Amino acid sequence: MILVLLGPPGAGKGTQGEILAERLGIPKIATGDVLRAALRDGTEQGLAAKAYMDRGDLVPDAVILGIMKDVLLSPAAEKGAILDGVVRTVPQAEGLTIMLAELGRKVDRFLLFDVPEEELMQRLGGRVVCQGCQTPYKGLEPGTRCEKCGETLVRRKDDEPEAIRNRLKVYEAQTAPVVEWAKEKKMNLHKIDATGELNEITERAMKAIEEHTK
Ligand code: AMP
Repeated sequence: MILVLLGPPGAGKGTQGEILAERLGIPKIATGDVLRAALRDGTEQGLAAKAYMDRGDLVPDAVILGIMKDVLLSPAAEKGAILDGVVRTVPQAEGLTIMLAELGRKVDRFLLFDVPEEELMQRLGGRVVCQGCQTPYKGLEPGTRCEKCGETLVRRKDDEPEAIRNRLKVYEAQTAPVVEWAKEKKMNLHKIDATGELNEITERAMKAIEEHTK
């Protein structure tokens, strides 16, 4: 099963993606994590992406489609994958669809995580993430140790107020049209209320997935 998680930054795609991946037994793949790892490793791809990421702008589609191809061809994704933070533009959506068709596969479900903008600003403003395993935390100071892996928690550069505003603007301009594209192409798009308790949101997502697979 291939699931694409759509929604603005801070909507909880990463957190829910982890939980859904465990429940469904398929990996969650986040292009943001792939790019941050490339940056830490100092690869050419990572260094080329850095300036875009720091500003909260999107990395060029060609780079993202290259990553997607590697991911889809990897043995880990044989049974399926949960794609978090990709696709973010209409050309990425089209590119992914073509790539999957060539492999005899398709996106089974697009899940759109819906959260009001004021709540997004609050969520992103107080966020720190583990620089090791990328687990996000609220209300902890940078420098605290991660409960999961013991690495240090940091504030991402793109979680600074200016970059947050830019990321939300970029979402509206470049990613929101993917929702319209999915509707037009009659893709299996399901909007989920992504506010409230973590487990309630998971149940809403599971219901949307199970409805589809019946
Ligand atoms: P995220 O962790 O999903 O918030 O991604 C962090 C940053 O990585 C984004 O602000 C973009 O600069 C870049 N990025 C991640 N995924 C994509 C994508 N699908 N298309 C373009 N840029 C991306």
